[in-house]
Amino acid sequence: MRCYANDLCLQTCEEERRQDIVCGMQRRERILQNSTFFLLSSNTMKVIEHIQNAKGTQISFEILPPLKGKTINSIYEHLDPMMEFKPSFINVTYHRSETMFKKKPDGTFEKVEVRKRPGTVGICAAIMNHYRVDAVPHLICGGFTRRETEDALIDLHFLGVDNVLVLRGDAAKNESSFEPEADGHHYAIDLLKQVVHLNNGIYIEEDIKNGGKTNFCIGVAGYPEKHFESPNISTDLNFLKAKVDAGAEYITTQMFFDNQKYFDFVKACKGIGINVPIIPGLKPITSKKQLSILPKIFHVDIPADLSDAIIKCRNDEEVEKVGTEWLTQQSKELKKAEVPVLHYYTLGKPKVICNVVKEIV
Ligand SMILES: Cc1cc2nc3c(=O)[nH]c(=O)nc-3n(C[C@H](O)[C@H](O)[C@H](O)COP(=O)(O)OP(=O)(O)OC[C@H]3O[C@@H](n4cnc5c(N)ncnc54)[C@H](O)[C@@H]3O)c2cc1C
Repeated sequence: MRCYANDLCLQTCEEERRQDIVCGMQRRERILQNSTFFLLSSNTMKVIEHIQNAKGTQISFEILPPLKGKTINSIYEHLDPMMEFKPSFINVTYHRSETMFKKKPDGTFEKVEVRKRPGTVGICAAIMNHYRVDAVPHLICGGFTRRETEDALIDLHFLGVDNVLVLRGDAAKNESSFEPEADGHHYAIDLLKQVVHLNNGIYIEEDIKNGGKTNFCIGVAGYPEKHFESPNISTDLNFLKAKVDAGAEYITTQMFFDNQKYFDFVKACKGIGINVPIIPGLKPITSKKQLSILPKIFHVDIPADLSDAIIKCRNDEEVEKVGTEWLTQQSKELKKAEVPVLHYYTLGKPKVICNVVKEIV
């Protein structure tokens, strides 16, 4: 006589065995993936190593995380066309949350904190895993307490990300000037010092003795046309030097459209003893409205030759042509001057960047 209880038991055992096998396979796959990632991460290079090992000018790109609701595929679609140029590294910007007032059904308003572009850390890990290219997350003071910063750095370290660009961040939209979090950092240099501490195994928790050391290569921002809050270029440069003296290994500049501004900046930096590589940040102008938006947001000048040519354009297609040609000439001249890296702010314009870079590689 067949025993259903036994059959059931056998079926259950068989099912459990199958599940064990599947779980085992999944586990092995995970271990394999992790070890691949470990191999990847152990092969990663710091920005400063890319620069020191390079024979000539390198290429790098900067991207923004996509708006919340989009998938990682939007990043791959953006980056795919540019990967043929073998960037040495890819920067991913960080965006703090914004305070918004959302209307409730009863007509009253609710105050909410919304981060429109989350995902910087995840995108960096995805880039390193997917393209095997080093990623440089931006880390800001705004919106972070020192403990949250420490946790973010630990996440990056565990993921094998050994590069960070440390920044103060701008004031929140509802503030007239930059306000740090209670127990947050006021200036980029304070954040930088925290990263240096962690590189030496010094954590905020004082009872952590012999803490694991992180290994971050730290970059900072520099402004060829001075930071807009600074009273003059000389004061701004002294604060920049303080960041370098505190451990910054390279500087990435704000965008500029006149190479002479960059050359003068590099000379002035050298003049006060800043001897780290200075990476020029570059952006194409692709629409007429950027003529007023870029100076307003980024506090940069647009040379008269360029603005005159753009004003004459009949549509943005023509502006894009002018902007591409301008950026190509800028890039060629900078490459000739043997800058360490040409760093492109891609801001949703991969095609333009490809058209520029293919002229100079
Ligand atoms: C390459 C690059 C990438 C960027 N990426 C991002 C990003 O991903 N996310 C984002 O939100 N923003 C980003 N920004 C914008 C940046 O956050 C703003 O420009 C911000 O206003 C200043 O940041 P900082 O790191 O230069 O600040 P800081 O170096 O702290 O300088 C800010 C101002 O304070 C002055 N200063 C510095 N130290 C002191 C001090 N000890 N005492 C008094 N004054 C001082 C400086 O002269 C300057 O005027 C980026 C900018 C650049 C150039």
